[in-house]
Amino acid sequence: MKFLCERCDIQMTLNGVDDGGPESVAVRFVCPECDSRIAMITNPMETQMVKSIGVKIGGRDDKLAPMEMIKESIQENARAKDTLLGVKWEESAEKRLLNVPEMARPMARKAIENHAKKMGYETITLEVMDEAKNNL
Ligand SMILES: [Zn+2]
Repeated sequence: MKFLCERCDIQMTLNGVDDGGPESVAVRFVCPECDSRIAMITNPMETQMVKSIGVKIGGRDDKLAPMEMIKESIQENARAKDTLLGVKWEESAEKRLLNVPEMARPMARKAIENHAKKMGYETITLEVMDEAKNNL
């Protein structure tokens, strides 16, 4: 099974397989040229088929075992979540956060991150921490 990116007229490459249990599998493809993405969700019968052909789906000859692909796509999702949260901590800010009593730290971290997100900051610096504190 192969997919073609209509815009680029080239084969899309397999980008990951999300195992949705016995009933469904999401097979994700990405265009190496324009990065457009599609996903195919299988019905139970197709699931059987996809699982039995395993790694042979996709435009490239993938040597990865299905479990590895699944693992990889989970890691990818975790990374995506990190970037969704969006904010990075500067080392000095991270250090200062350690001054907050351990019990209150997760709350403080969250409050500061929320403030940073609201203000559209990507990195939490000491200044952002001060700002967040003044805002509380
Ligand atoms: Zn394309």
